[in-house]
Formats: sequence, structure tokens, C-alpha cells
Amino acid sequence: MEQNAASHSQSDQLNVDWFNYRRRVSRQIKVGDLTLGGDAPIRIQSMTTADTLDVEKTVDESIRMVDAGSELVRITAPSKKEAEALGSIAQALHVANKHVPLVADIHFTPNAAEVAADHVEKIRVNPGNYADKKKFEEIDYTDESYAAELDRIETRFTPLVLKCKRLGRAMRIGTNHGSLSDRILSRYGDTPTGMVESALEFLRICQKHDYHEIVISMKASNPQVMVQAYRLLVARMDAEGMNYPLHLGVTEAGDGEDGRIKSAIGIGALLEDGLGDTIRVSLTEAPEAELPVARKLVDRYAQRGHSSTMDALPLSFDPFNHARRAAQEVLNIGGKNVPVVVHDLSSGDITPARLFGCGYRYSVPLDKWNLDDFACDYIYSGNREIDFELPGTLGVIQDAADWKGATRHYPLWSAANWNPNATSDVHFIQAKKADLTEAFVSSLRGRKDIVLALEASSAHAMADLRGCCMQLDQMKCDVPVILTRKLDDLDDESFQLFASVDLGAPLLDGFGDGIWMAGNQASLQLRNSTAFGILQATRTRISKTEYISCPSCGRTLFDLQETTAKIRSVTSHLKGVKIGIMGCIVNGPGEMADADYGYVGTGPGKITLYKEKEVVERNVPEDRAVDALVDLIRSHGDWVEPVEV
Ligand code: SF4
Repeated sequence: MEQNAASHSQSDQLNVDWFNYRRRVSRQIKVGDLTLGGDAPIRIQSMTTADTLDVEKTVDESIRMVDAGSELVRITAPSKKEAEALGSIAQALHVANKHVPLVADIHFTPNAAEVAADHVEKIRVNPGNYADKKKFEEIDYTDESYAAELDRIETRFTPLVLKCKRLGRAMRIGTNHGSLSDRILSRYGDTPTGMVESALEFLRICQKHDYHEIVISMKASNPQVMVQAYRLLVARMDAEGMNYPLHLGVTEAGDGEDGRIKSAIGIGALLEDGLGDTIRVSLTEAPEAELPVARKLVDRYAQRGHSSTMDALPLSFDPFNHARRAAQEVLNIGGKNVPVVVHDLSSGDITPARLFGCGYRYSVPLDKWNLDDFACDYIYSGNREIDFELPGTLGVIQDAADWKGATRHYPLWSAANWNPNATSDVHFIQAKKADLTEAFVSSLRGRKDIVLALEASSAHAMADLRGCCMQLDQMKCDVPVILTRKLDDLDDESFQLFASVDLGAPLLDGFGDGIWMAGNQASLQLRNSTAFGILQATRTRISKTEYISCPSCGRTLFDLQETTAKIRSVTSHLKGVKIGIMGCIVNGPGEMADADYGYVGTGPGKITLYKEKEVVERNVPEDRAVDALVDLIRSHGDWVEPVEV
């Protein structure tokens, strides 16, 4: 992979050990009595969804969150009324003996922030809308007019900074990809650079007033953008001698399996880099459901310490821009092909019925195979015999000792028993980091018939896989690589989360021409949906509809979970279409840039529909809004009728 000079100098400044786990040393701050950053454990948190003015409901929800492990509780304060209600909520939680720091979530309303600072331990401000009204205008700023805007922002923001400093309150400067100001968009575009600049402008005002109880976030619904933005932020902070702690999150990640996979990839990629001091997993589910997921992600790093498993190599990827590693095309693997999915069927008999779990359905009356959108590309059969005709698109990888040369069957060698003179159209070779010796890699170099199945061999699997790919680059070997990870002895959710981190994060960095879900303990259905979910979330292979749905909060004016389920039930067959479902306008229009169609709450019982960033229909009554969304999709030619199976 080529690197440009600019990214080289940025990566040089990014003080990350890409090969071994080492947590970034951040400044430690206090949020009430809670320490955050430095050597404090990585904190987990969530946000209430009840109307903040409904104090009883918000308190009940907060208690459920605390009981589920939330170490901070965030509550929206859209206006001064809600900011005042935070006082009653804090008091009620105190009476209930739940001593948790509260965070007021502020968009658009500096006066609410200043009131909230009287009642809660931390204020979250969104630099995209704290002092800016969003009008979606592109403005041509001169340096003078841009500086004048910064002066105006400083005037609006300084009172909150001074109040937080005086009262000992913490603050999160929480940039969101979807709600960058017109000013930032005009100068930097809808980019990670714009996100970072947006936060730095506010950060410099805090520094001017010697206020440092700050944590920063760079959220986006696309894990790729989110990871790049956090890395860029750290590089910029390092360059300016700052080390504020980081709050990690993938925003509008959605629900269920999609939300978990997307969150795990984005948050996990950064945790693997040693970045992150607190995390929030945003799911379109009850807030307490987020906390066990967050706990599982964080606990993987609690005991990891500084593990040194690999010597540093020159970076062969750009941490700030996605570019896929260049690899030879072998079969349908590598080159410009989408990453393939390989499943392990080596234990138990291989029957037509068993292939159902990896996307192939055999129709007896029609005597033909039907393929799902989630049909895997290869199965590993070990030493098992297959005595029926396979679907034409499916390849079989067999142990080399049992390989008999059948059509679309390929031998699998270990690096140790690989015979370079063996005859087969294509050879698959399993290799670990220790196998990548000069002699072994030389035997692969220049060949166009090899696929390497790289196995992670340490607990630091993600960096191991990425490091092995870099080693191949260093040794000028461009064989295609399948990332292999065996994760047994885990509950289903942990399997899905850890597979997403270990296999998804290298894909974000451009490594991997396929993923191989090794191990047999998770069900084939789970392994298959996880594999395709990882590829979808990394946007390396699109095989289903994508939902960008917010977790909802006190600003939500409709039942987001129910609505998301309703929209999903009528659109889940629209492969490749991205639908944004937002409770309110705060992140709505911005995230529409990443969505093809948008469904955004604008008032009680009222929905506004978007085609990308453009409003198409305002104030649609909620009871006919889903039908109107379908009509909109139809009118743009993206609708297909669902196929009955
Ligand atoms: S987009 Fe959703 S979670 Fe975000 S502020 Fe609006 S309603 Fe709340």
C-alpha cells in the first residue's frame, strides 16, 4: 500500500504501538467522585431515553442503568426546563442511594448548559451546534470572517467554561460526524479533519481559561470514519502537547446484531490501539441493554497490560485513510474481489441440510440450490467426504492429506508441511506469525496459486493479524490473505463481539481478502450472520439493508424501537439501501449524508422524510410515515418486491 507524505508525518506523531497492546496515557480527570482517564479503568456509560421532564421515569431508568453497571448516566437537556429537572433527578438518585455522576446532554442551548452545570457533574456539548444554528449553507469564509466566527463562539462558550471551572464540573466536547456546523463543513467538508477541527476550536477556548477537566469524542455511524477521526484527533493532540481522555462510541449503530457488530468494530479497533478511557455502546434498545455489551468489550483489555508479542515494522497502511492492501487475485480471492467468507464444517457430517446455515437451500422438487444474500464462498471440510453435488458457487478446502483433486476442491497445507512442488490449481496454506520466515515467504513470492489463511495466535489477535499482513508487505509478498480466528468457549454475544473486533478491525485498516470463522462451538448460523455482518459494517461487502438508527433519548418523539422494527420488517430485503431512523433533528440531517433515505422525528406524531440530505416531505403523520417512506424509495427506483421463499 502506498502512503502519502502527509499521512506519514501524522502517523509518526500518533504515539500508538500498532503491534503490541499499550494503553495511551491520558490526563486523568474527575467527574464528581469518579476518576476518568490516566490509570483509571476504562469506564462504561449509557444514556436515558425517557422524557427528562418525567422525573420518576428518568430516575427509574437511571437506576436500572446503574444496576446494569453504568458508571455515568447521561440525560438530555434540550431546554432550561429539563436542565432544572436534572436537579430533582440527582436528588432522587441520591435518596435511592445511587451515587452516580450525571451528565447533561446539550445541543443548541447554551443557557440550558449553564443551568445544568448547577445540578450535574458533567456537561456534554456538541461543538457542531452549541453556538451555531444549522442552516445547511455553504459559506465562503475569508480568514477574517472565519476568525470573527471563532470570536463569536468564544463569547457564547466562555461562560460555561468558567462556570464548570468554578464548580469543578467536567465537560465532554462531543463532536458528531452528523452534526458538524455549516462553518466547519464549508472549510473542511464532511471529513474526519473537520470533526477534529470542530473539537479543537472548543478545546483551545478551554485551554485559554486554564480549564482541563475535559474528555473528547468523535462519533460517527460509519466505524471507518469514526476510527480515522479518533486517530487523527490523537495525532493532533499529541502534536499540540495535549492528552485529554477519550470517550469512544459508534453513534446510531442500530439494534440487535447489527448494532453490536458495528459498535464492536469501531470501539474495539480503537481499544486495540490502546485508545479510549470511557465507552458508550449506542443501541436502539433499552439503555440497560447496552451495558453488558460495553462491559464485555472493555473487560478484554482490563488485564491485558503491555503485551509485547511482535517487533515493530514500518507501517504499510495509512491509519487515517482506508486503502486496501494490494494482493494478487487467486480464484475469487484478493484483487478487487469483495472479501470471501469461509466456514469450518470439519466436525460432523456434511449434508445438504447443513449448508442451510451458511446460506444455501436445496429445493428437492426443483432439484436445485437457492442462494441467500449471505451465502458463504468456501467451506473447510477437513477430512470429511462430501457425497452430494454442491452448489456451483461453493468451493471446498480440504486437508491436503485427504485431497483427491475433485472440481472446486483445494488442498489445505500447514506452513510446516507445505510442498511447493505439489500440483493443484490453487493451494491454501495456514500460517501463523512464527511461520512467516524468509524461507517460507520466499516460497510463496511471485506465485499466483496461493491463498494464505493467516491465523491469530495470541490474545492480541487483531494486532497480530494486522502485523502479519504488514510483515508480508515488508517481505514484498502479495499473496491474498484470509484472516482466520478461532473463538470457542464463549457465549453467543461474546463470540459476535470478539470476532467483530479481531476480524473487523484489520479490515478497517485495509487488511484481509476474506474471513474464516474457525472453530465449531458457535452455531453455523451465528458464525455466518456474524461474518456477513462484519463485512457489511466495515463496508467491504454489502449484502443487506443498512439501518442507521439512533438509540433514542428524551428528545425522541416516537417509539424508536417499535418504528425501527416496523421499517425493518418492510425494507429488510433492500440489499445495499441505507436507511437513517432518527428520533430528532440533532443528528438527523447530517447522518442523512451517509444514508440513502431518512425518517426523522420533527414533532409529536410528525415525521420528516429525507432523500439523502434533502428534505422530501415534512410533518408526515406518523401513522402513514412508513408507507410514505416505502413510496419514496419506490419513486427513486430503489424498491424491489420481496421474494417469497
Ligand atoms: S438523534 Fe436520537 S439519540 Fe440523538 S439527540 Fe436525537 S433523539 Fe436523541
